[in-house]
Amino acid sequence: MPETPRYRRVLLKASGEALMGEQGFGIDVSVVDRIAADIAEARQMGVEVAVVIGGGNIFRGVAVASKGGDRVTGDHMGMLGTVINSLALRTSLVKIGVDAVVLSAIAMPELCESFSQRQATAYIDAGKVVIFAGGTGNPFFTTDSAAALRAAEIGADALFKGTQVDGVYSDDPKRNPSAKRYDHITHEQVLNDGLLVMDTTAIALARENNIPIIVYSIHEKGGFGAILRGEGRCTVVSDA
Ligand code: UDP
Repeated sequence: MPETPRYRRVLLKASGEALMGEQGFGIDVSVVDRIAADIAEARQMGVEVAVVIGGGNIFRGVAVASKGGDRVTGDHMGMLGTVINSLALRTSLVKIGVDAVVLSAIAMPELCESFSQRQATAYIDAGKVVIFAGGTGNPFFTTDSAAALRAAEIGADALFKGTQVDGVYSDDPKRNPSAKRYDHITHEQVLNDGLLVMDTTAIALARENNIPIIVYSIHEKGGFGAILRGEGRCTVVSDA
């Protein structure tokens, strides 16, 4: 008998920067293919998967604002970046036989369907991987917040935050070798200590909706599936 996965329905948040691999900009298709393979493994285990992708590899609204430009337009550009990344992930998933659909918070019917909670839930129930593009659809938000929001909307059991490191640390482990690593930590502690897990809006939303956040290294091949089997290395942010 196959093992029962730890979670039944999960939302995976991957930053745009994770997609660029060793490049300084844009998309490294081999990285996107690897993330797609990890998602395929989760689907084979019977886990329902939805995804939110960032756009930091393409554009960030604050970059415009910091040069005296209009923040709202900059954020619109950032959200368009997330659509590009989402289309790339869908392509990689479809290539390996995983049924996937992109739902965008900003209507662009020639490219993909528009987001609605009802449609998203229907697709996930039907076994499709749903990729949420366009963040929340609003400026001044981030895709971390979009991930927490969508996780709540689809009733996800957990929000997986794929990062550059294998969990939550008290300080940046790449700069401070004595930084403490946590196996478990509460949402409250993350907020109080200002730990850089996700932005505060995302943490608060996850806490209010009792959604655990699983922080793990997105660069570890098979890491996603291993955690779903209860084996992988991660930090669990939860109040229980
Ligand atoms: N963005 C936005 N509203 C959202 C999500 C994203 O305006 O709900 C914009 C914002 O400019 C942000 C950019 O899209 O800088 C890329 O998203 P994010 O920085 O969250 O990407 P990541 O850091 O995960 O790659």
